Amino acid sequence: MNKKIIIISTLFIVLIVSSCKHANQSKGKTDNGTKAGKEVSDVNQTMNTPKQIIAKPEMPVLCYHRIKDGKKGDYTVSRATFSSHIKMLADSGYHSILPLQLYDYLVYNKALPEKPFIISFDDSRVEHFALAAPILEKHGFRGVFFIMTITYNKKNYMTKEEIAQLSKAGHTIGLHSWDHTMVTKYKEATDWQKQVVEPKKMLEKIVSKKVEYWAYPNGVYDHKGAKDLSKHFKLSFTLFSKRDSIVPLQTIRRIIVPECKPQELLKSIRRAFKSK
Ligand SMILES: [Zn+2]
Repeated sequence: MNKKIIIISTLFIVLIVSSCKHANQSKGKTDNGTKAGKEVSDVNQTMNTPKQIIAKPEMPVLCYHRIKDGKKGDYTVSRATFSSHIKMLADSGYHSILPLQLYDYLVYNKALPEKPFIISFDDSRVEHFALAAPILEKHGFRGVFFIMTITYNKKNYMTKEEIAQLSKAGHTIGLHSWDHTMVTKYKEATDWQKQVVEPKKMLEKIVSKKVEYWAYPNGVYDHKGAKDLSKHFKLSFTLFSKRDSIVPLQTIRRIIVPECKPQELLKSIRRAFKSK
């Protein structure tokens, strides 16, 4: 495991979490920009180089874990806080986009709606289905749910049917490994088989779609892991660590959203992603 990367990631996370404190404004509504995007892609089917991808403005990507009352910590927000975050994003004119839109934007310069952002959820918690998804849908948002497949049908975690329902409702289902082992620990082909290949296949069976997105367990990665993941996924999501200049698509940054006021979240988004 690369200690340096862990330390740097941790520092960034601490920085972002502790900086969740001020305000930012935004507005405007369009649909998902597919039409405009198609026009662009018709004239430009050449893939952007890693350097071009890194040079593009970064999209805000949020990461939630637990949504639960009475439990404090950077990985838990209360139900009321979560609702207030989503309402603020909607009222501020943000539009949720799906990972495929982000991929098409980064690789083919396809257009995005105004104020785009991605909202993601890690670890397959049952409240992601029961609480988060309905709130997102109420505001016309769709999210990305990263599943750790060891949790299928376990207490407090989503069932296979619930995962399938999220997908049917227009959310994206991604993989978060089999049992949360970090990518830097996959040494043998059998590790890749167990943590990536097999769970990906199972998840695809559940949602009847290709699973093309990955979230790194603990946000930890190294160059080799990122490069190897590019054989399996269109995009992989880290927490807020330095992007890999050779495989930037496999090191898309997210910020962990802690318990904080909506205006503090806006400030964090603006600061982390230089978003307007
Ligand atoms: Zn996780």
